[in-house]
Amino acid sequence: MCISEKANLDFGSLPFSYQKTDINVRYTWRDGKWDDGIETDSETLPLHIAATCTHYGQAAFEGMKVYETKDGRFLGFRMAENAKRMQHSASLLLMQAPPTELFTQAVHRVVKANKRFIPPYGSGASLYVRPLLIGTGARIGVRPADEYMFLVLVTPVGPYFKQGFSPTRLIIEETMDRAAPQGVGTAKAGGNYAAGMRGTVHARDKGYGEALYLDAKEHKYIEELGAANFFGITKDKAYVTPKSPTILRSITNMSLRVLAADLGYKVEERVVLTDELHEFVETGACGTAAVITPIESITFRGKEIVYLKDGKPGPHCTELYNGLTSIQCGDVPDKYGWTERIEG
Ligand SMILES: *Cc1c(COP(=O)(O)O)cnc(C)c1O
Repeated sequence: MCISEKANLDFGSLPFSYQKTDINVRYTWRDGKWDDGIETDSETLPLHIAATCTHYGQAAFEGMKVYETKDGRFLGFRMAENAKRMQHSASLLLMQAPPTELFTQAVHRVVKANKRFIPPYGSGASLYVRPLLIGTGARIGVRPADEYMFLVLVTPVGPYFKQGFSPTRLIIEETMDRAAPQGVGTAKAGGNYAAGMRGTVHARDKGYGEALYLDAKEHKYIEELGAANFFGITKDKAYVTPKSPTILRSITNMSLRVLAADLGYKVEERVVLTDELHEFVETGACGTAAVITPIESITFRGKEIVYLKDGKPGPHCTELYNGLTSIQCGDVPDKYGWTERIEG
């Protein structure tokens, strides 16, 4: 058998959607501890009808990508940060979280078992890794479960946007909020995304790619998109990204801030007023799925602020996108220690 044997898929034209692979891994927390986990080819869960994840939303997830390098290695990206964020989400939802070591072990285990689904270098595709934590213990009264499942599934995905690294138009959503100031906006909690679908569908119905949210208290400051952080670039080369207690702390954004500083940008993490949107020369959305999505325009109170007149990504977004993705797929040396090799 050839060691680099791949699944029989058209890796070059994969959509960003779920597709069955060989195995997912599942760990159970019961009686105060995590078990050793199992590998299964089942795509369904045996779930109690009163599990807290179903009625009361004790559910949190993560998302990361694994790339194949030119020389056939498999690279994960800052996985310990995802582990920490899942622990943070769990703490807000009163769930038990996998320790960082268990989290990374589980990811290695499931990626290894599905290595034939890791898209080949240069295909533009990657293996998307989706860790999920759910309350599985039965409750009818509203209180935390006494049993949890930590599951990791993988699926090969193409670029988030079909045309690849291409711009999108946003609309500022003033009739809905993403997260309350003292709520759980910093958690990747399932409920936040159920609540956010309304905003996305509303924006799409009006012909926009996504909604951009303001802070829920004052409706004055830019926060983020439903599943991506926001940044703007000023004419004097500052990378500006909103600072807010309700934003989901994007690992892509954390990485871009470091990279931008090294590329000579001034990095500012601070409140961003809607008035400032006129002052940016480029704006972008960032997250694991699309890395960076250049923003073509933002519509606010009926006026469209246009950043990209020809519909093509600008030089700043392009520089940052190329900088980060070349580290992620091993094209340049990773001086930050962000990538982690997953042994096939
Ligand atoms: C997942 C997510 C992001 C992006 O986070 P990454 O760690 O960069 O993938 C940003 N905002 C929200 C609301 C998210 O759910």
